[in-house]
Amino acid sequence: MVGSFQLMKSLNRSLILNIIRSAGMISRADIAKKTKLTPPTVTNITGGLLSEGIILEGQTGPSSGGRKPIMLRINSRNFFIAGVDVGVKKIRFGLADLNADLSYQTVVPISERMSEADLVRVITEQVQKLMRESAVPKEKMIGIGIGMHGVVDAERGISVFAPGLKLKNIPLKTMLEDVFLIPVKVENDVRAMALGEAWFGEGRGLDDLICINVGYGIGAGIIMNGRLFRGSHGLAGEIGHTVADLNGPRCTCGNYGCLQTLAAHDGLKNAALKEIILGRPTLISEMADGKPDKISGIVIHEAAKLGDELAIEILRGAGRYLGAAVSNLVHILNPPKIIVGGGISKAGAFILDPLREVVMKRSISEEARKTVIVESGLGDSAGLIGACTLVLSDLFSLNYENTKQTV
Ligand SMILES: [Zn+2]
Repeated sequence: MVGSFQLMKSLNRSLILNIIRSAGMISRADIAKKTKLTPPTVTNITGGLLSEGIILEGQTGPSSGGRKPIMLRINSRNFFIAGVDVGVKKIRFGLADLNADLSYQTVVPISERMSEADLVRVITEQVQKLMRESAVPKEKMIGIGIGMHGVVDAERGISVFAPGLKLKNIPLKTMLEDVFLIPVKVENDVRAMALGEAWFGEGRGLDDLICINVGYGIGAGIIMNGRLFRGSHGLAGEIGHTVADLNGPRCTCGNYGCLQTLAAHDGLKNAALKEIILGRPTLISEMADGKPDKISGIVIHEAAKLGDELAIEILRGAGRYLGAAVSNLVHILNPPKIIVGGGISKAGAFILDPLREVVMKRSISEEARKTVIVESGLGDSAGLIGACTLVLSDLFSLNYENTKQTV
């Protein structure tokens, strides 16, 4: 049966675990104060958590008169999660502890015509390899978290449509739980990323935030009141397909002028190609050895760093389109912070400066200008950390379906 990890037994356990996690170190008395649970209940539950190796007793804390209290903390290196980040071009794997510290990371490219069976086989083999190389025993693995690009039915753990693989309806959760017999969580990659930012990145301490990923596509993960907001039909955050130009280029979704045709990877590449064909001198063609296929976001960024006018213009243009989208988000949801990540965001100021300028210019009030716009601090690991956080949020949080998961 799936769920050998005997953890989610009651809300009180989750409550206490989450308080210990967020405090770092805390005494039993302070847990009782914060939770309003009785001291015997706290002693009882923490006793269980101690004997299961989920928490540890640490040094003594400051005394408030009597005996110095013993501090409790999460035993973060005692349990592990396998994280899988399935992008458009590659799949990243890593092992995380309860602090989402990653080790044993590997990257596997997505091959042309990867079938559903191939994908499940690659994930299975790589997760088995992670467990073998790290020598983590199976009972210490609390789950597998998968951030999957495209449309995902998170509740049932199905990849509904993965455009990078051109595959539909892959029941990842069921297929992998059958193999590993531990819980498997599947979520859209950008939503997972947003959760990762909320727990371990730029979003720590915030109840509301939006995380935008700009790479081969553009998506957003929205967190409201500490929870992922998916919308009624799982479409919330699909900002890559919001209209940026009614007469713009055709998008992979069939519409015209979607944001991602103008500000994601291929939009940048096409903008460069168009100017090169018109004969505009630029370092981009040289740096791509004159081969259109070699033009990439990285090449454009490198050219911009060398002062290439066209490259800078292309990145600034993308930044302005993103700025318009971010301005829309500010006026619709008014989050305190918007975090920008993904490959294209590595162009840093070339993109973020025009983005912020547009948001400032379009804000309808002084308050709207207070939204903080930052680059993700988790970098290339954001997706993996997010994938692992899918499992961690089940472990620690009260907001999720914990109580249903009794084993
Ligand atoms: Zn579209």
